[in-house]
Amino acid sequence: MELPFAEPYKIKVVEPLRRSSREEREKWIKEARYNLFNLRSEQVFIDLLTDSGTGAMSHHQWSEMMLGDESYAGSASYFKLKKVINELLGMPYFVPTHQGRAAENVLFSATIKEGDLVPGNSHFDTTKGHIEFRRATAVDCTIDEASETLLYHPFKGNIDLNKLEDVFRNNPREKIPMCIITVTCNTSGGQPVSMQNIREVSALCKKYGIPVIFDAARFAENAYFIKQREKEYANHSITDIVREMYDHVDAATMSSKKDAIVNIGGFVACRDKELFDKISMYCILYEGYLTYGGLAGRDLAAMAQGLTEGCRYDYLESRIGQVAYLGKLLKEYGIPCQEPTGGHAVFVDAGKVLPHIPREEYQAQTLAIELYLEGGVRGVEIGTLLADRDPKTRENRYPNLELVRLAVPRRVYTNNHMAFVAACLGNIFERRDKITKGFRITKEAPIMRHFTVELERK
Ligand SMILES: *Cc1c(COP(=O)(O)O)cnc(C)c1O
Repeated sequence: MELPFAEPYKIKVVEPLRRSSREEREKWIKEARYNLFNLRSEQVFIDLLTDSGTGAMSHHQWSEMMLGDESYAGSASYFKLKKVINELLGMPYFVPTHQGRAAENVLFSATIKEGDLVPGNSHFDTTKGHIEFRRATAVDCTIDEASETLLYHPFKGNIDLNKLEDVFRNNPREKIPMCIITVTCNTSGGQPVSMQNIREVSALCKKYGIPVIFDAARFAENAYFIKQREKEYANHSITDIVREMYDHVDAATMSSKKDAIVNIGGFVACRDKELFDKISMYCILYEGYLTYGGLAGRDLAAMAQGLTEGCRYDYLESRIGQVAYLGKLLKEYGIPCQEPTGGHAVFVDAGKVLPHIPREEYQAQTLAIELYLEGGVRGVEIGTLLADRDPKTRENRYPNLELVRLAVPRRVYTNNHMAFVAACLGNIFERRDKITKGFRITKEAPIMRHFTVELERK
């Protein structure tokens, strides 16, 4: 018999969780104006809001925290991180930033101007926010298969080369500062991009003289999927695959709160000295001096260690295996989920669970609220609230899918927690016909409204 995987770590410190009553949760979510971001963490039993900055650091990372060098300039912790970025990613230059969106701010300040077009696979919300804030446009060139949740495709994060080339053909070169490949593609369901697609996108961009950038938050999870699903890489090590992925791009923004398994941190890495000089100015302006970039020395050191741990095969196998386990349980209850299960999260197709609720009443938000009421489980809406309004018409933008994302923090929960979450959704699925009303917005911000939106029941 082939042995199953088991977590390649044991638990040394535990943090107690408290279960609450349905009455308590009814009161709390109303006080939170039906916005799950407004809940206090004590009001949540299992928190699958995000896998960002919520991971458990290893004792090696904690010991790096103690070794952190807090010098303003030339910190030893900076050089530890530099060595890992140079050797693991093959990127000669980098600036640290306090998180991923800060990396976007630094890089885009140097590269994107008003009226520009930025094609890529479904851009992450902060990425799109930083593009639109500069009065530029993010053009989604993801393959059509990505929006058919029940269709199996091994690489639903892939870019459609025809869509991409159309953008290149129909617009002047100087209006396209870059093409962004998000690995894995968060917005399309934590779905990976194949090495073949990375290679082809990179070649096409080269032909048109357009730089290719990774939004690299989950690059290691993407590498694991390449190893699993792309035959010629089955015998490659994760670190070899990672290196080859980066070899195809000119620069990368990183949210280290994901695959570097730290609670805060990020960076921009690049190949070109001229670009490095440009982003250095913005790093100093927005983040801090070049050898700390808005972080403490100890954070840089923990990030260096986390980048290394995040690329280990047995860790990735158990991490992605746990997410797949949650997906498998949900499917056993008959709940429609994005196929195949993504690397960091299961995406429940709320449009198919609650088709009788009008989209103007926010199907995915309605399901996310039900899940909280059922068991104190916090997921997040990836649907119309997140899609925001069209910047010109101010009308709601209706995305292809109404999803509830259950993002699994790294090394934090056990499979019993996953079983609890699945059972909660199983109960809701059974009584789905009795859920007949959604929500209306009472207050919203002009950009990235989902974080602060206030709602009431219809
Ligand atoms: C999280 C994330 C970001 C933004 O990073 P923060 O650290 O949250 O600022 C950007 N892109 C992707 C794909 C992400 O998942």
